[in-house]
Amino acid sequence: MATATNLGFPRIGANRELKKAVEAYWSGKSSGENLLAAASDIRRSNWRLQADAGIEQIPTGDFSFYDHVLDTAFLFDLIPKRFRELKPASDLDLYFLMARGLAGGQQTQALEMTKWFDTNYHYLVPEIGSDQHFTLARNTATDHFLEAAQLGYAARPVILGPVSFLWLSKSASDGSKPLHLLDRTRDAYEELLRRLASAGAAWVQMDEPVFAVDWNGRISPAALKQLYEHLAAAAPGVKILLSTYFGPLKENLEVALALPVHGLHLDLVRGPEQLEHALRAAPSGLTLSLGLIDGRNVWRADLARALSVAEQAAAVVSADRIMVAPSCSLLHVPVDLDAEDALEPEVREWLAFGKQKLQEVSLLAAALNKGRKAVETELKENAAVLARRNSSPLVRNPAVRDRISSITAADRSHNSPYSIRKQAQASTLHLPAFPTTTIGSFPQTGQLRRERLRRKNGVIGEEDYKTFIRKEIEYAIRRQEEIGLDVLVHGEAERNDMVEYFGELLEGFAFTKNGWVQSYGSRCVKPPIIYGDVLRRSAMTVDWWSFAQSLTQRPVKGMLTGPVTILQWSFVRDDQPRRDTCMQIALAVRDEVVGLEAAGCRVIQIDEPALREGLPLRAADAPAYLSWAVDCFRIASAGVADSTQIHTHMCYADFNDIVDAIAAMDADVISLESARSQMVLLEAFQKNRYPNELGPGVYDIHSPRIPGSSEMVNLLHRALAVIPPERLWVNPDCGLKTRQWDEVVPALQNMVAAARTLRSSAARDEVSSRR
Ligand code: GLN
Ligand code: ZN
Repeated sequence: MATATNLGFPRIGANRELKKAVEAYWSGKSSGENLLAAASDIRRSNWRLQADAGIEQIPTGDFSFYDHVLDTAFLFDLIPKRFRELKPASDLDLYFLMARGLAGGQQTQALEMTKWFDTNYHYLVPEIGSDQHFTLARNTATDHFLEAAQLGYAARPVILGPVSFLWLSKSASDGSKPLHLLDRTRDAYEELLRRLASAGAAWVQMDEPVFAVDWNGRISPAALKQLYEHLAAAAPGVKILLSTYFGPLKENLEVALALPVHGLHLDLVRGPEQLEHALRAAPSGLTLSLGLIDGRNVWRADLARALSVAEQAAAVVSADRIMVAPSCSLLHVPVDLDAEDALEPEVREWLAFGKQKLQEVSLLAAALNKGRKAVETELKENAAVLARRNSSPLVRNPAVRDRISSITAADRSHNSPYSIRKQAQASTLHLPAFPTTTIGSFPQTGQLRRERLRRKNGVIGEEDYKTFIRKEIEYAIRRQEEIGLDVLVHGEAERNDMVEYFGELLEGFAFTKNGWVQSYGSRCVKPPIIYGDVLRRSAMTVDWWSFAQSLTQRPVKGMLTGPVTILQWSFVRDDQPRRDTCMQIALAVRDEVVGLEAAGCRVIQIDEPALREGLPLRAADAPAYLSWAVDCFRIASAGVADSTQIHTHMCYADFNDIVDAIAAMDADVISLESARSQMVLLEAFQKNRYPNELGPGVYDIHSPRIPGSSEMVNLLHRALAVIPPERLWVNPDCGLKTRQWDEVVPALQNMVAAARTLRSSAARDEVSSRR
């Protein structure tokens, strides 16, 4: 019989109970015992929900107080000295110290945080010293398994596999991936497997997502095989399921099939084509776990199609060697659609969240075991929903489609090359050398958040709320004038979130009430759902911008979120390529750009902080992505006159491998996060001869520290080694919304002073060179 299984479930709780519990603990309002109790409640209700959905192998060990990569490091006692030294009062505090750099009144530098493969989930990067010992120091994995077993659930412990763990870690000395320590992990993993086996686990799910990326020779298949041979031998009573996801294994499939494991999970949503090869080459006795239900998106599956795939597998291997599963852990989707009573019913029936996806998994397993007839009604209902979605007037807007098909090369290009645009802009903007500006947002104060909530709950009316926002804008403009900035911003007070704000004003987007997914730690996001053709019905930012500009003589920059970022931070429709959806958003942004220009706006910034993170996992897929992503930015930005200056902004990324694409975007000015990295990223811009204007951040806005002016002058001098003075801008790393006004004002005063220092020394140089 085929088994209905799951790879992992959201740990935040159906109503973000985890967030509430950990934050109460952090703030000292609640005890450690309370937190542990809240955690066990979440686990219990997750298991119950999964069992009720018909799941027969329920994951344990997928729960985490903060992050599962950190959990793995903690389990194996990989705790850098700076955390141990502080001797925190409890294990919980030691853990949170590593996660946040802050716990039990103590403080140190937290572990670095970065993105989990191509998702919007962030994990903590373990730091591994060269003399590091991996020791199984904690019992959490067995405890959670037993906790579930005692409640009567057939549990399957999940652990992050050794290769992926090392791939995601960094060596404490040079930051490289400590893959040479593979052998060093052996004892600890063996011990873990032994303990799970003696606790009674039949299967252990070993997550190795690294199989879906390019290894470029950095992982030795032979060493890998040897390690897994040891693991299999260490605990013969337990079966290992090697679980891969986020993409097809390609050349790594052979390596996976050669490992002495009992089962292999394949992501057949991202890599359907690999099944055939796997079926042909699988050693006899290997169980295949078929990742048929999309764990990364929110759409109901095409069950008939998924079932055909499962049947194709069942024709080759016997049904008791088949597991049906989501493509990956459900960590990346919201918990339950049932609570969403405010969604348009027509759209709502197209969706499936965590719980609904598990019901789909069970249904597929039942169909395999009992035949299609047994689930005939459900299959029919599913087909009817898909047919309704497919033919719904909500998904297709002929006018949008016509416009997409008539995009010309001219729509993708500015009228003139940068060198000519620069002159046109100089003669309208009259900016000084080293112009100063900010990235868009100003502090979102407690009062602002309160007013927004009062508006949402209907305590205040639209007009009162707008009056309040106008006051915020005026405050921001006055402060910027006093500080002496050259290009001002309105401050984004009206925006709750840079994607949601635009999504709410565009057609084709739906919003949930409770569709949260974990971004990192206790921080959750509620991505909009793009279900239909995207259309801008009316202006989105023009009024706010016009109001801001009416208050000052200095130029106020228009602020927009770019098409790729809107796409990247939403759940995207799966009935057309992402590229097509992005084009539609690009046209909507273009209309807004043109609208701003018509209202008199001369500087417009289109933020693309998420462009880099959209890069596919495999290098071979990067050029295609970058080509349409750049295209979309150009469509969004190129509808204006030469004299209108286009800015863009990017952050949290290593830009080395995409400088050419950034140059191809052909924005007049780009601002980048670089103060945090002390300008090292600029080397890439130098090497690739970045042709336009550049504002490398000189103020690290992630820290409450106020940088001094001379420090910023130093950073700017480093930048001048790479960028000629006539192309250098002076700005912070990113938006200032998370900061306080009393930090921001002095920091920006120092920044303006730094620009003035540069101007006067440049003037001196000029005088001396004339002499
Ligand atoms: N304009 C946005 C802001 O200042 C940019 C945010 C971002 O880069 N993530 O907040
Ligand atoms: Zn930013």
